[in-house]
Amino acid sequence: MKYLDEINALIESLSKYQGVGPKTAERLAINTVTKWNNEEIDNFINALVDIKKLKRCKYCGNITKDDVCEICNSRSNKKIMVIEDVKDLFAIEKCEAYDGVYHILDGVINYQAGITPLDLNLEPLFSRAKEADEIIIATNPSIEGEITAQYIKEMLKDEKCNVTRIAYGLPVGGNLEYADSKTLEKALEGRRNIK
Ligand SMILES: [Zn+2]
Repeated sequence: MKYLDEINALIESLSKYQGVGPKTAERLAINTVTKWNNEEIDNFINALVDIKKLKRCKYCGNITKDDVCEICNSRSNKKIMVIEDVKDLFAIEKCEAYDGVYHILDGVINYQAGITPLDLNLEPLFSRAKEADEIIIATNPSIEGEITAQYIKEMLKDEKCNVTRIAYGLPVGGNLEYADSKTLEKALEGRRNIK
């Protein structure tokens, strides 16, 4: 006996989430069918319809309703912090210790997983770097985060801007997203020039 097509379609959509394997997708799909009422399903549909209106900022990759995000619109772009993920932006904004703009890579270089520099949002960074005084690399202290930081440093070697790396008080493999505000603030203060 196989699942109905409707359920298979839902399993397929849920499997698109990063980190959700087929078993989890199956569980979520069945849960939706058996536990959710129509109103809850409508709310989910409406939330998905609404996010279709959102865009990525054409400069930094932040999520925005307009072409350019509020941060890029209101702050000087002399200091650009390079981060892996949109979630990192929210973590850093929460600690209120940074007043520059961001650049979101949407990942890190991971040759083993087939993720090369071409798969990341890097080109807009290299053009923005020409106007900047400092590029702060805040990728996570993982092997991939380090490889990515080295790659960016190398690509910026002929630009006049400084390239700094934040000083993690985090163990290797720690994640910026889970660091508390004090740790992030210290990491930012202790950044060092790597160029
Ligand atoms: Zn932006």
